[in-house]
Amino acid sequence: MNLSNQGLTSMKSNPDADSLGGLYQEIIVEHSRRPRHKGPLSPCQFCQEGKNPLCGDEVNVFARVEQHAGAPARVFVSFDGHGCSISQASASMMCDAVNGQTFEDALSCLDKAEDIYSGTLVPADSEDPEHDFEALAGVAKFPVRIKCAALAWKSLELLLSTHFDEHGKPLQSTTAATEAAPKRKLKIITHES
Ligand code: ZN
Repeated sequence: MNLSNQGLTSMKSNPDADSLGGLYQEIIVEHSRRPRHKGPLSPCQFCQEGKNPLCGDEVNVFARVEQHAGAPARVFVSFDGHGCSISQASASMMCDAVNGQTFEDALSCLDKAEDIYSGTLVPADSEDPEHDFEALAGVAKFPVRIKCAALAWKSLELLLSTHFDEHGKPLQSTTAATEAAPKRKLKIITHES
């Protein structure tokens, strides 16, 4: 799909999902109307709050990592929050993509999503994308909205890196996990942060 022919040429600086165009718009609107994995996670190990003050978006990401002997660690997530349709749809897409994945596959999803919503990676044209979050490519041309799309992903990334090593093993520093971490707040203010 050629995005330049799909309504992005309007150059609006502050689009909502409705102006993203085409298939991407459909996927984002669908997730914002019927969010997946929204609500508490049971059982839940950790929660990470994320805020995007520029847009007023708030997302709480809930997660647990299941460890079973002889098997890779697996990640389970849900979210809650409110804000613009892009922030909430992105959280829904993230939970859809990550839920039940191995820890390392979940990290790969985080990396791929960041490449897509930041515009570093342009997914191949497809009527049936592998992951719905590929629709976040439609956001990449609007720097203000990249922060909306990034919020849930950055929150989960912070949660996982705070409590687990890169293979999903719980970090040993229990003081960091039980005292410092629950007070950490993520604010996405600039593109770089
Ligand atoms: Zn937003």
